Amino acid sequence: MIKRATRFFPGLCQNHAEGRGPSKTMSLNALADYHMHTPLCHHATGNPVAYVDQAAQRGLTEIGFACHSPMPDPFDDWRMERDELPRYVDMVATARERGRQEGVVVRLGLEVDYLPGLEDWIAELSTLAPWDYLIGSVHYLTDSLVVDHPEHLSQVQARYSPEEMWARYWELFAAACATGQFDFMAHPDLPKKFGDVPEGDLTPYYRQGIDAMKSAKIGTEINTAGLHKPIGEMYPTEAFLTLAAKAAIPLVISSDAHAPEEVGRDFEAARALAKRSGYTSLARYARRERRLLPLD
Ligand code: ZN
Ligand code: FE
Ligand code: FE
Ligand code: ZN
Repeated sequence: MIKRATRFFPGLCQNHAEGRGPSKTMSLNALADYHMHTPLCHHATGNPVAYVDQAAQRGLTEIGFACHSPMPDPFDDWRMERDELPRYVDMVATARERGRQEGVVVRLGLEVDYLPGLEDWIAELSTLAPWDYLIGSVHYLTDSLVVDHPEHLSQVQARYSPEEMWARYWELFAAACATGQFDFMAHPDLPKKFGDVPEGDLTPYYRQGIDAMKSAKIGTEINTAGLHKPIGEMYPTEAFLTLAAKAAIPLVISSDAHAPEEVGRDFEAARALAKRSGYTSLARYARRERRLLPLD
């Protein structure tokens, strides 16, 4: 279905070609967990090397770190500081070394917060390390209100009806896509986290996000962490994914791990969701280039 930039790893599906059943490793062969955090954001735990070990145990052959991006100036207490960026890159390099020993490719990414006015900073960030990919994220509805922060919830709900919250969120999501700086967008329907969902047809919201990703030629993720939040379902919902698959929006499957044991969590269920939604391939990223692998 997705034609652009398709290139398969030679030999990747050999087990299937030879008629053997998929081994534990092969069963996850198109999956790469590209959304994992590090202790630099102050709310994730565990050495990145332990994330690699967990990935190897789960049968993943490729992963990537994407911790919360620094801001140009101190901003909040849940991200690395600007001068910690070299340390972050070093941590991922060390994890990559471990990955070499364990047969796990380790990519360098970043989960980049989009807020209006940050465009120049994000452009600068994109030059500060040899990124494999940048994930675009909308967490902030305003300079001080975070849509998915439990401590901000009452303020967010006091300020916005669910309809207003979603309108604001998807407007920012589309603006993030339009920066042209991102490879894929994180947790698309994040505002549902605590159950704030407008009544009625959500398609217009989804359309806005999908059209923006389509125009920007970027992808998105199934983020399994939502299963463990109050809403109890992955981001995004199946209706969104079905529209995204029809629009040929590239897809990855991510855990958003904030602890080693969360790496690759619920990936079988996420893969089933991707297939039900009409996806036949998943994306891989290296040095800002995308290729697609068959989803089997
Ligand atoms: Zn986080
Ligand atoms: Fe996030
Ligand atoms: Fe994250
Ligand atoms: Zn995230």
